Amino acid sequence: MERRTFVRAASAAAVGSALPAPTLGAERSTLLEAPFVHTPQLVAPVVISDSSGVRFKNGGPQSGVERAFQLIAEGTDVLDALIAGVNIPELDPEETGIGYGGLPNEDGVVQLDSCCMHGPKRQAGGVAALEGIRTPSLVARAVMDNTDHHLLVGKGAQDFARNMGFEVEEDLNTDRSRALWLEWRRRIDPLHYLDPARRRRIGYEVGLDMVREGLVDRNSFWGTINCNGIGPDGAICGVTTTSGLAWKIPGRVGDSPILGAGLYVADGVGAAGSTGRGEANLFNLSSFLIVEHLRRGAHPKDAGMAALERVKENTVEERLLNDRGLPAFDLRFFVLDAAGRYAGVAMYGSSESSYGLCTENGVEEPLLEGLLDGSPTG
Ligand code: ASP
Repeated sequence: MERRTFVRAASAAAVGSALPAPTLGAERSTLLEAPFVHTPQLVAPVVISDSSGVRFKNGGPQSGVERAFQLIAEGTDVLDALIAGVNIPELDPEETGIGYGGLPNEDGVVQLDSCCMHGPKRQAGGVAALEGIRTPSLVARAVMDNTDHHLLVGKGAQDFARNMGFEVEEDLNTDRSRALWLEWRRRIDPLHYLDPARRRRIGYEVGLDMVREGLVDRNSFWGTINCNGIGPDGAICGVTTTSGLAWKIPGRVGDSPILGAGLYVADGVGAAGSTGRGEANLFNLSSFLIVEHLRRGAHPKDAGMAALERVKENTVEERLLNDRGLPAFDLRFFVLDAAGRYAGVAMYGSSESSYGLCTENGVEEPLLEGLLDGSPTG
């Protein structure tokens, strides 16, 4: 974009940032009083995402949050802009947790999940266990645009994508993702295939060993990008896309493509999305919960922390607890409200865990705020 245009968009946004938050509705008395009409209002554009939104550029000049922000400032539809942003890590072969080159399932097949929501249009679409298409976010968008449905899975999703003109590839593995899968396979004691319950545990622990040894990036063992944004007229959208849990059972679907879990957007209220242990999020439908807290006027940080508290309360099985009796996994939320306020929160904060942000001030990597000290391992 020309600098002049960018500056104009940014200063219009800056004016907007001084406005109060008219739609946040602390005065709303019940959860059911949702605003049903998108009322355009000036607000400073924001794009927030997982760290993949700043760490990967696929050999190009821009990261995902930067690309999305620029497009929003130029006037592109917010969801189109966010999807163009997440296409960057989806297509980047170095990002082993998203799209092309994502770590495959236990059979060595890359299966991808994604969903998207358009706030002002009140529309949504998603795909799960999708094979052979590098950019599942675009297929999620096609489900939203071209069908009466919100979620297509497996072969049906792939057939739909083919019919919509997407190129379907035989294999989305890269040499790297295939080599890591082979290493994982090599480490599994074949004897454990006799005991399915035990095998899962062993497989998961072997995977975590590979994370601890630095073979697999911690962010890529789960690895997802959720990216939410607000445009200058207050339009809020979001998208989440992932290859899911590394070496999952074929057909396993996590939280990422599920509306209310991996993503939720309510126009005039806010957006929330997640990365981390999908099962914990599926059980608690945290993104929906967070947006409902926003609807009652909570700050994005408080709304995110409330959801993490809920997840913690509901984590009681011994196998999911560490030595301190706390969740033995991480879960992260990226939250944005209608006034352009935002927060990145995690079950465990650390000096190494950041998230991606792009505002009129440029790209930043703020630290995630943790509910708990320490780490999932204790
Ligand atoms: N939440 C994703 C899933 O469970 C993975 C991740 O974010 O790391 O599939």
